[in-house]
Amino acid sequence: MKILITGGAGFVGSHLADKLHNEGHEITIIDDLSTGRYQNVAHLEGKEGFRLIIDTVLNEKLMEELIRETDRVFHMASAVGVKLIMEHPVKTIETIFRGTDVVLGFCSRYRKRVLIPSTSEVYGKGASIPFREEDDLLTGSTDKHRWAYACAKTLDEFLALAHWKETRLPVAVVRLFNTVGPRQTGQYGMVVPNFVKSAIKNEPITVHGDGSQSRCFGHVLDVVEGLTKVIETPECFGQVINLGNSEEVTIKGLAEKAIEMTGSTSEIRYIPYSEAYGEGFEDMQRRVPSLDKAKRIIGYEPTRTLEKIINDVAEQFREEVKSETANA
Ligand code: UDP
Repeated sequence: MKILITGGAGFVGSHLADKLHNEGHEITIIDDLSTGRYQNVAHLEGKEGFRLIIDTVLNEKLMEELIRETDRVFHMASAVGVKLIMEHPVKTIETIFRGTDVVLGFCSRYRKRVLIPSTSEVYGKGASIPFREEDDLLTGSTDKHRWAYACAKTLDEFLALAHWKETRLPVAVVRLFNTVGPRQTGQYGMVVPNFVKSAIKNEPITVHGDGSQSRCFGHVLDVVEGLTKVIETPECFGQVINLGNSEEVTIKGLAEKAIEMTGSTSEIRYIPYSEAYGEGFEDMQRRVPSLDKAKRIIGYEPTRTLEKIINDVAEQFREEVKSETANA
């Protein structure tokens, strides 16, 4: 099959490209390399059945051509990371909503199967744990920029479901919970790469707040398996489905685990949120997915644990630190 992955040089998109290319599909990636990295897909370049186009999903003429000729679209292009969102709120809103509008418009015109990733951020400050797809969404006021990301993604969801409602566009929405693993950079603030990299370098690990907030981390390889099943399962069209892992850990607990598993001498430092993100920041205390729907519809069952995640990420950073030292 011909498969188009927008944002395919990004963290999740590049793992998706690997899996689908291995299965023998013809992969086209469009990525503007804003947060994606060429090195994530460098190993695929030159291989048969792989094409990288460096451009933006806002190039409508190109997007029309690419969508017309493909069988499936995974729209993985998006602004990512709380840090980026706090620093570039205008770009975040524009990229997310305009990009999805372009993709859905052409998928509708040419009747193509499409997957729109959303985020667990949309649950916002919801307190009913675990988060279920039909729950109310509770974000903060508009002067707290963090919530711009959740609201832009919520609008993407509405638009996708509207296309399904009006013309039965085969579109599925997936809410990704904290997805981590090799190739994710700490540059945009994500906690796992930051902690593991600091641990390996024996540098202080910075915990925001008191570290009692918790998250559930899903291994990117589990998530990617889920994504490919969703697009191939017609029952998923017109649906919103959580994907991730439901094993919960506090951020303090994560820091301790990263130190223990890497044999690090790092100390843990606690800093206020305002120091990390500036004023106007609100965190989510807990974020736990209900995976019942994913299990029921696509048989989703993540198998990779937090230990496996830390080991895989540590392995990547050890290589990177080794080559940094060799080049120094
Ligand atoms: N966090 C932290 N230190 C860091 C990066 C993040 O304590 O160096 C915290 C962050 O404030 C949040 C949690 O870890 O409470 C998860 O942050 P991340 O940005 O990875 O994801 P999200 O906030 O979107 O769940």
